[in-house]
Amino acid sequence: MDYATLYRQSIEQPEAFWDAQAQAIHWRRPYDRVLEVERPPFRRWFAGGETNLCYNTVDRHLAARGDQLALAAISTETGQRRHFTYRELHREVNDFAAVLVALGVGRGDRVVVYMPNMAEAVFAVLACARIGAIHSVVFGGFAAHNLALRIDDAQASLLVCADAGMRAGKVIPYKPLVDAAIAQARHPPRHVLVVSRGLDPALARVDGRDLDYATLRERHAGTDVPVAWLESNEPSYLLYTSGTTGKPKGVQRDVGGHAVALALSMRTVFDVGPGQVMFSTSDVGWAVGHSYTIYGPLLVGATSLLYEGTPVNPDPGIWWQLCAEYGVRTMFSSPTAIRVLKKHDPAWLRRHDLLALRWLFLAGEPLDEPTARWIADGLGKPVIDNYWQTETGWPVLCLQPGLDLKPVRYGSPGFPNFGYKLRVIDETTGADAAPNEKGVLVVEPPLPPGCLTTVWNDDERFLRSYFGHFNELLYSSLDWAIRDDDGYTFILGRTDDVINVAGHRLGTREIEEAVATHPAVAEAAVIGVRDEIKGQAPHVFATLKAAVEPDARRAMASALQQRVCEQLGAIARPARVYIVAALPKTRSGKLLRRSIQALAESRDAGDLSTLDDASALEEIRAALARGA
Ligand code: ATP
Ligand code: MG
Repeated sequence: MDYATLYRQSIEQPEAFWDAQAQAIHWRRPYDRVLEVERPPFRRWFAGGETNLCYNTVDRHLAARGDQLALAAISTETGQRRHFTYRELHREVNDFAAVLVALGVGRGDRVVVYMPNMAEAVFAVLACARIGAIHSVVFGGFAAHNLALRIDDAQASLLVCADAGMRAGKVIPYKPLVDAAIAQARHPPRHVLVVSRGLDPALARVDGRDLDYATLRERHAGTDVPVAWLESNEPSYLLYTSGTTGKPKGVQRDVGGHAVALALSMRTVFDVGPGQVMFSTSDVGWAVGHSYTIYGPLLVGATSLLYEGTPVNPDPGIWWQLCAEYGVRTMFSSPTAIRVLKKHDPAWLRRHDLLALRWLFLAGEPLDEPTARWIADGLGKPVIDNYWQTETGWPVLCLQPGLDLKPVRYGSPGFPNFGYKLRVIDETTGADAAPNEKGVLVVEPPLPPGCLTTVWNDDERFLRSYFGHFNELLYSSLDWAIRDDDGYTFILGRTDDVINVAGHRLGTREIEEAVATHPAVAEAAVIGVRDEIKGQAPHVFATLKAAVEPDARRAMASALQQRVCEQLGAIARPARVYIVAALPKTRSGKLLRRSIQALAESRDAGDLSTLDDASALEEIRAALARGA
């Protein structure tokens, strides 16, 4: 069936549509109702149904594909490659689950997982799913403070960590960070389960609290742990948003709706089926890692690649080498990662046989046209932008190459995914924006399966953060969008980031893209700064592909100003252009415009808990001080 027909059905007859999709997963007990809405905007998908994510991702495939490769964990940091068939994955997950059970972890208990992209992170997640424990994966690069906040928020009974991670050849011991986090926490976990790779010879253990996974596994291995059948709406996991706009929100995901949405999107969006190979480069600590490294590919009996390392080590062709070696069909990465590759010779993209590779998906932030073209031309493959949020857990706007691929239109992630009744509305009147007019992207109720059920332990924040803007039923994460005459939706940035110049509303993204068309520019962040006359004026912070002498900065600044004027008109002319060596980003690679803006307006930089590199903020301070 084609996209348009199916989409219409998903909106006009949601229960019939989702009932059909739900057949893709195994239900221990059939659901009583496809959709139940007693207290909107809360809703329950597949109410009364019982299922289990571990059963659906692992056990279910044993009969037909026990000997097929399920997971390839590749580390270019440690130089290790580990391969697990579905049968081996089943063994690993059961052993992990047996250890969790032995430690007294059970249904509904929270387990914090603080690990890099290593196979045991996947085992830990699936073991939690098996026994009905709620996992909360914390990105392995976060500092002790962030970890402590997440431990406290979850009130976890167990923390699973690695002895260390590695980044660009450097060992980063995790255990000292864990110890510091627990010292700060108000609700410390009873136990810390350490999976050691022997990377940290100085590993310290707290008696009675810290336990070694290998030792416990030896003691409990070999037993099959019964699957806990959960009601479809019980929580499966917690995961925090990136913190781009403020304090991260603890997204709570359900079980049944999550499985159904992922299974559907694997087929229609990502075009991956049983026996095929998917490579998602995301960290397991982000939503993409949860949905499209762990759960999605395994739900449909595919092979998933898990990658620890940078995109340029041992060389900038490593990802494509892996695609060739494993016969990857669908790859999923982020614009940030491609911008890293873009600093290298495009010949690296052509060095390996990419016959099997069909699609490259990119998500997480605006995909600018120069970057999209560079990678699409370099690989000779379609590059597909898709827009979503940690909250939604799967794409909101996308193309559906698994059904019928509409032409890619650069700058737009495409059309609404199934079940998302999207509107672009005027921020003040709430009326529908006309085609080609800017507005706020909102979702009409009900949110489709897969989307968050609430903010963990904080229904109030759930309502306030997402439903408090227009009316109490319209969901919005306050992204700014425009829909063209053909129905392609473009995301212009966040409403917070809109710059109001003398009554004209400009998206940060429009100006950033205009700046980025200059061949010398690597990346740009644009912010609105208070202006006596115009209300706000755009200020540009740009990084360059090659460093320039301080004297040349002024010429570069006027060249960039001119470029913006040419492309967007004089109204968008940046009042200031600063050339910097780095831009502040979240650990998930998103520009922290709010912090740049705060510094530019001499305010406090705000919540910096998810800031990746503090020196980037110093760069901004220094640039502001010197005025260029
Ligand atoms: P927080 O909600 O804590 O402020 P965040 O919104 O960055 O952080 P994520 O869930 O990681 O947290 O990111 C979702 C947001 O990323 C979207 O709301 C949107 O602003 C942006 N985004 C994601 N994908 C795209 C895309 N393809 N094009 C444009 N923007 C995107
Ligand atoms: Mg958000």
